[in-house]
Amino acid sequence: MRARYKRLLLKQNPGCIFCAGAQPATTVDHVPNKGMFPDSHRPKGLEVPACSECNRRSRVFEDIASFICSVRFTVNDRVNKHFERKMRAIMNNQPHLMDELMPTFRQKRQAARFVDEKGEACGAFDLRGPNIGRAMLHYGAKLGMALHWHTTGNSLSDRGKVAVLWFSNSNALVGDVPQQLMELLPDPRTLSQGKFNVRDQFEYGSGKTIDGDSCGHWVTFGEAIMYQIFTGEQINTDMLPPHQVLRPGFITENW
Ligand SMILES: [Zn+2]
Repeated sequence: MRARYKRLLLKQNPGCIFCAGAQPATTVDHVPNKGMFPDSHRPKGLEVPACSECNRRSRVFEDIASFICSVRFTVNDRVNKHFERKMRAIMNNQPHLMDELMPTFRQKRQAARFVDEKGEACGAFDLRGPNIGRAMLHYGAKLGMALHWHTTGNSLSDRGKVAVLWFSNSNALVGDVPQQLMELLPDPRTLSQGKFNVRDQFEYGSGKTIDGDSCGHWVTFGEAIMYQIFTGEQINTDMLPPHQVLRPGFITENW
């Protein structure tokens, strides 16, 4: 990133968008993180002003989410290598997660009914464990705050809320993903630079409510994970379990 662009972004936006300006923004954070993409090859776009604490402490849950989101049915060298690299990073840095990811017999049997491009039976991971769930929620909350800032031009205040719902491809295969979610935003965007784009890895869309205060966001990571995220100062989250609703400052409080 050009130093001039970074200076300008931080000059125009002095407060970190992830802790509601509790700390000054001293870094430019990429959302989604570079590590989400094979060889960290990420086009420009969706950069946000962040403090060094929020930026640095996100890495643990960003590593977990980058691994979970790297699961694919399509088989090619680039995709396979990316998946293997992400898995190795988890095995080395957070080995306790491997037990949590171990599929049950039923999950294995369900997954084996589906085949990948080469005709080989699919494997499965158990994503219901507490550490995986927390990382995926927090990753979604960070995405939501960044997309809210890009959509409205404002960061959330310390009373603002982010509500996160996420679905895995196994939810999608058995029809568990609400259909209106798919139809919500017919024209998904991605990051691109010249002819290069990452549509196969990441697509997103955001919409504002009429008063412009709240937003709905929709994000997919390839065939692996789909997020639906709501952000705003006064969104009604009564329908959701409390742990799915986060507020600015959650990164430094939790990681
Ligand atoms: Zn911060």
